[in-house]
Amino acid sequence: MTTSTAKQPKPNPYYPIGQLQCETDTGLLTVPLTQEVAFRSWQQAIPEEYWGLDADELTRRIRTARATLAENVVVLGHHYQREDIIQFADERGDSFALAQYAASHPESRYIVFCGVHFMAEAADILCAPHQQVVLPNMEAGCSMADMAAPPDVYSAWRELEDSFGSTDDIIPVTYMNSAASLKAFCGKYGGVVCTSSNATKVLEWAFERGKRVFFFPDQHLGRNTGAKMGIPLDEMVLWNWRLPAGNLGGRDGDELARARIILWQGHCSVHQRFSLTQIEQARERYPDVKIVVHPECRHEVVQEADANGSTAYIAKYVAEAPAGSVIGVGTEINLVSRLAKENPDKTVFCLDPVVCPCSTMYRVHPAYLAWVMESLVAGTVVNRIQVPAEEKAHARLALERMLALK
Ligand code: SF4
Repeated sequence: MTTSTAKQPKPNPYYPIGQLQCETDTGLLTVPLTQEVAFRSWQQAIPEEYWGLDADELTRRIRTARATLAENVVVLGHHYQREDIIQFADERGDSFALAQYAASHPESRYIVFCGVHFMAEAADILCAPHQQVVLPNMEAGCSMADMAAPPDVYSAWRELEDSFGSTDDIIPVTYMNSAASLKAFCGKYGGVVCTSSNATKVLEWAFERGKRVFFFPDQHLGRNTGAKMGIPLDEMVLWNWRLPAGNLGGRDGDELARARIILWQGHCSVHQRFSLTQIEQARERYPDVKIVVHPECRHEVVQEADANGSTAYIAKYVAEAPAGSVIGVGTEINLVSRLAKENPDKTVFCLDPVVCPCSTMYRVHPAYLAWVMESLVAGTVVNRIQVPAEEKAHARLALERMLALK
């Protein structure tokens, strides 16, 4: 078996690079790549034979490849993937649960991770050395993770060190949704990784070891978790990474001295769309509605909701609600739409009236899954994600500290 890297993007001649339009404007249904706005301009190039295939033909080809590869491959599907991908998933879940699932199946040499880049990296960190992790589309990143570029975080750390005289009392905590190099940074400097389901436990662990937490990349998860622990909002300060180095992220010395949590100014473009107005409108329309949102939403939205939690929590909340319940959900539309289908005895709807899938998750079009699976059948590994060995060791340490928390 040979390993190939991503091909150079080449323009799709079917469409000129044209007007600005959301790449997910085709909604939740799969159309051939040639009809995808994104494919014509900024998607990873794949062989031309995949460009015009419709959903039925792609399903047929992926199914055949899946059957040929049998137990040699595990296909993982994040909750936010479209139905035409989820149908092939051996396991679906959040990023951490999926990485753990892959690690618990060492009999499978190939892990095809239908999700985004940091998730495939996490799987590579946790899997055995003989397992190879594949991301169907190398352009499937995460805009939140991209807001914490490693050089910006290292520079902020040096500024904190200068400002406080030492970073001994500061514990770096990174959300799962971050580059492997930042997980490694946390491993190296006595920090840890958290997920949206264990952030409180992780921050408790951090405060047993230091006076302050440096939390990245999601300001909202950090703030919502701190508030849940009783930390006043003015003791959680934002670090504006867009400012040039030397500006202490826009804070002055007093603000930093008071801060218990220093929040990186990152956010999820999907979850930041949810608003108080949407909750008010849902309550006007359905007086008995229950609102459940993800903690990546803004603080005021989380405060106003009836419940908040990870994707697994939201799925359980909906499943356990009594028949006849009306539930407004604040998370990505593919998951909400699936929960609505799986709970036909309840009215489940997305708080955001605009159908706006996560644009980077959306880049795992079935044509890309067909390409990587058929390449594996042909003996070629395309789009392998490999975290460098030293980075992997430190990142694993940060993940193990999290796993040790009961
Ligand atoms: S939903 Fe938000 S956090 Fe998740 S992959 Fe998309 S941009 Fe990143």
